[in-house]
Amino acid sequence: MEYISTRNNKKTFKFRDVFIKGLADDGGLFIPKSPHKVDINELKGLEYNDLAKKVIYPFIGDFMTEMDLDKIIDQSYSVFRKKNVIDLIKVGDRSVLELFHGPTLAFKDVAMQLLGNFYEYYLNNQNEKLNIVVATSGDTGAAAIDAIKGKNNINIFVLHPHNRVSSVQRKLMTTGKDKNVFNIAVNGNFDDCQNLVKTMFADKDFSNDIKMSGVNSINWARIIAQSVYYFYSYFLIEDDNRPINFSVPTGNFGDVYAGYLAKKMGLPINKLIVATNQNDILHRAISRGSYEVENVFETISPSMDIQVASNFERLLYDLNEGDDLQTIDAMKNIKEKGKYIINQEKLDKINANFLSSRMSEEEVLKTINEVYKKFNIVLDPHSAIGYGAFDKINLDGNNIVLATAHPCKFPDAIKKAIDIKTDLPKELMFVMNEKENYDTIENDVEKVKQHIKERIQ
Ligand SMILES: *Cc1c(COP(=O)(O)O)cnc(C)c1O
Repeated sequence: MEYISTRNNKKTFKFRDVFIKGLADDGGLFIPKSPHKVDINELKGLEYNDLAKKVIYPFIGDFMTEMDLDKIIDQSYSVFRKKNVIDLIKVGDRSVLELFHGPTLAFKDVAMQLLGNFYEYYLNNQNEKLNIVVATSGDTGAAAIDAIKGKNNINIFVLHPHNRVSSVQRKLMTTGKDKNVFNIAVNGNFDDCQNLVKTMFADKDFSNDIKMSGVNSINWARIIAQSVYYFYSYFLIEDDNRPINFSVPTGNFGDVYAGYLAKKMGLPINKLIVATNQNDILHRAISRGSYEVENVFETISPSMDIQVASNFERLLYDLNEGDDLQTIDAMKNIKEKGKYIINQEKLDKINANFLSSRMSEEEVLKTINEVYKKFNIVLDPHSAIGYGAFDKINLDGNNIVLATAHPCKFPDAIKKAIDIKTDLPKELMFVMNEKENYDTIENDVEKVKQHIKERIQ
């Protein structure tokens, strides 16, 4: 498969570049040059790993053989606590897709475990060392660290916003003892962390010098890995008479874009709901066409406290029907004016696939409380936002909510909502008493660069 950048549709890339670079040199995001369709009937009824192999292979065929991929998928998903990676449970009138049975208790493990092994494979066949630098709103960091820790010829630097992730999220990142893992707490919010990483990437002297690679949610390898569970859960509840809708708690537009990718590949999903917290730029964009950056609020769903939804650029490129110049223009507006107005024609196109909703803090707590009282299920705040979206938007059909994190990652919010204590799974209890290891640095790119350089010399 050939890839292009959303900002230049002439130059083509192979998966290997797409994966290792993460972001194109022109600042754009990688996407396949032409659409890729699957035969749905061939995918029905497969076990999760076999399905993943079939869905992912066409995207990466020039990177490794089908047999290598088979091995890597089996190895990556052997660390999950469920045989088929995920679980689909009925909660009231909708289904909840539990994606948090991996090593760090959030859906991000599903893609990240695979990426870790992709890196290992790449470096085994290559005489080089890589440094991963990634910004996290709380869950990416832990998932990436777990996937990379202890591997040869690769270091990982994780930037998280100081005091703005939950203590369980932080401990899952900072208590490891591996020498190739470095945690940095930035005095700022997630968007600041993301900007630091973007700036370091854009500084070619620096990023080439340290052989910088990125695993944030714009990395195409993450998107293809995440599209698999849309197929898997769809087939589990498919019936011929009712459409299937997904509600996806959204921050960077990565996970919901993976659903859209599945739809583009031919999975007949009806609607994808983009469910946001108070940081509702995507809700404003999708409900009324105004993509306008505002200040970031701190919420009890910190992994969605984002105003700049990086993956949205991939959708914009689609809306512009592959016109890279229009995409460049839109992104320029967003960067310079903090604003992009989507015209009615484009908005109609968006709404053919996507609807959106927004939840206030009180509504999130209320949803957690109601679901617990009625069904004895504890949803984490992010998943509650996905769940409650189906109360705000009435959609006929079989409705699936993506549950993106285990509730024990957000004990304060759960205590506030239903006054119970949520414990970590037994295997992870120990992190609560381990010594933490991280450095606090100002929101200053030169200082962060310096810090990284000192640690890899
Ligand atoms: C990262 C994350 C999200 C948002 O996912 P995006 O791909 O950024 O939209 C939602 N919930 C949880 C728990 C997360 O960790």
